[in-house]
Amino acid sequence: MKLRVGLGFDSHALIEGRSCVLGGVRIPHPTGPVGHSDGDAVLHAIADALLGAAGLDDLGTLFPDTDARWRGADSGKLLEEIASRVRAAGWKPVNVDVVVVTNGPRVAAHREAMRRRIGELVGLDAADVNVKGKSPEGLPAADGAGAVVAYAVCLVSR
Ligand SMILES: [Zn+2]
Repeated sequence: MKLRVGLGFDSHALIEGRSCVLGGVRIPHPTGPVGHSDGDAVLHAIADALLGAAGLDDLGTLFPDTDARWRGADSGKLLEEIASRVRAAGWKPVNVDVVVVTNGPRVAAHREAMRRRIGELVGLDAADVNVKGKSPEGLPAADGAGAVVAYAVCLVSR
């Protein structure tokens, strides 16, 4: 069996009036991630980790933010598409682990829902998906508003 690991990173500023979707889960919160798509930094980081592990192009290359088709796009749909491309390239996801750093919504209250949703999108059991929330410990974002930063690793096998 051959194994490969991939690393993904993503970040979005949080602004008032945007709906807040993280890890594929809609979270009631006064701010949400800015972005061409729905701004789901967690799913974007996982997508790049999967693509990296499979040796495929990155998310920005496959789904450019200059392309009107992806405006307001549901990142869950993008991640499902990427998981199917990874499988088509002969790789099977083994597990996903994510760290979410944000001074916005509390991730802990939603982590089980995120694990289930990410598992559905990638084709893994929730037990093979981990999501950990971290507070930035008082560090404000550069513009003084909130932000969400996500790091993901994914193991794949063939
Ligand atoms: Zn993003």
